[in-house]
Amino acid sequence: MTPWLLDPVHRAQLDDWLAPATLFVFDFDGTLAPIVDDPAEARMAPATWTQLERLGRLAPVAVVSGRSREDLTARVPPAVSHLIGNHGNEGLPGGDADTRERRHICAFWESRLREDDSLWRAAKGAQIENKGLTLSLHYRHCENPAWGRSLLLARASRLVPSPRVIRGHAVFNLLPPGTFTKREALEALMRHTRCERMLFIGDDVTDELAFRDAPENWMTVRVGRSMDTAARYHVDHVDEVGWLIAHAVGCCQQADRGLGGRQQGQAH
Ligand SMILES: [Mg+2]
Repeated sequence: MTPWLLDPVHRAQLDDWLAPATLFVFDFDGTLAPIVDDPAEARMAPATWTQLERLGRLAPVAVVSGRSREDLTARVPPAVSHLIGNHGNEGLPGGDADTRERRHICAFWESRLREDDSLWRAAKGAQIENKGLTLSLHYRHCENPAWGRSLLLARASRLVPSPRVIRGHAVFNLLPPGTFTKREALEALMRHTRCERMLFIGDDVTDELAFRDAPENWMTVRVGRSMDTAARYHVDHVDEVGWLIAHAVGCCQQADRGLGGRQQGQAH
């Protein structure tokens, strides 16, 4: 079991980490906002919104989500400096590579899936969401979600070109060849911001790609206890992420105030 980040025994290390030179990166669903039945209704708590806005004025902050960047815009406070959608493929600094081929592949996959009448009869309630650069297959509303999941997965595995499949909460994300994952997105953000270290909090399989073999200067945190995570720490609930953001605001303000004193001290 990964240690609980908010345990007082880790407090000194945590407080040291929560500084203006740290890049703060958050997943959205299940991390900043609780998971809800209808993803369109997902919202962060007002207090979390306020504190995230404050943190965005003190340090570089990124939200990296499987949602489209357009969808994220209204769900995240304006002071967040990097809004990265589509699992790291929208809004990434320096990531404006030619996306036409990937968009074409997603459209092709979507048409092949939609024309498969037997699939939609068998997996009734399943939905396709074409996010442009990735395709999502939702099975939350299937009459039998486990059955819907296996049918969709089997069908997706026969698509050409073969997609990279990343699981989420009652969803499969299909990524065309050459698509970024959150791992590459986080590496690109670290290069771009030139931060000394990162705090990254997520809750999902897509986040595990960034937790695994993370460099020493990435503090990785999973929301929710799990025996099967590569994150270094966990917090128990979305509410604790809200507390952590408020605490980070306090630590960054203190670091700003103390900077002059520390620099003077170093001169002696
Ligand atoms: Mg999530």
